Amino acid sequence: MTQVVFSIGSNLGDRGAHLRAAVAGLAANGVVQAVSGVYETLPWGEADQPAYYNAVALVTGPHDVDEWLRIAQSLEQAEGRERDPRRRFGPRTLDVDLIAAWTDDGTPIERDDPDLTLPHPRAHLRAFVLRPWLEIQPYARLPRHGWVNDLVLSDALADDVAAMRVVSDVELE
Ligand code: AMP
Repeated sequence: MTQVVFSIGSNLGDRGAHLRAAVAGLAANGVVQAVSGVYETLPWGEADQPAYYNAVALVTGPHDVDEWLRIAQSLEQAEGRERDPRRRFGPRTLDVDLIAAWTDDGTPIERDDPDLTLPHPRAHLRAFVLRPWLEIQPYARLPRHGWVNDLVLSDALADDVAAMRVVSDVELE
């Protein structure tokens, strides 16, 4: 049994529908304990693409983290994700990332494998991960980086947090 924080994002097509499909797919593989609201976020990495809808889901289930990665990738594929090797951070119908994971007894799972790095190596830099996560778990800690609350309030993320817009007409649960 593991507990995983997933980040889900979409910036192509019916973004809300892609995020709902991701939550439904996670629920089919475990127990979705909480889902954040949806935030509209300016694109990260490559600016010439549509704005993202982002959210975070807290899930528990009887899978190890490698199985969760395969589940995440199958959900991306089901929503028609095509990877463009020239555009690492390019547009996508659905992106599902493992942000952090814990064992049954609350021990953080750490991995430095490029195929699965935990916690996610860029999570601490991303307002669109941390802000929705803070909403569902105000006392969360990002392993290796500390309180999610401190990261969200840090000067480094202030502009990105301020630029996020809550999308009130899309519900994921
Ligand atoms: P992306 O194109 O951003 O979805 O990145 C996917 C690639 O990152 C895949 O090859 C994964 O094996 C790898 N990866 C490494 N760490 C993670 C993680 N924590 N969550 C999801 N994918 C990861």
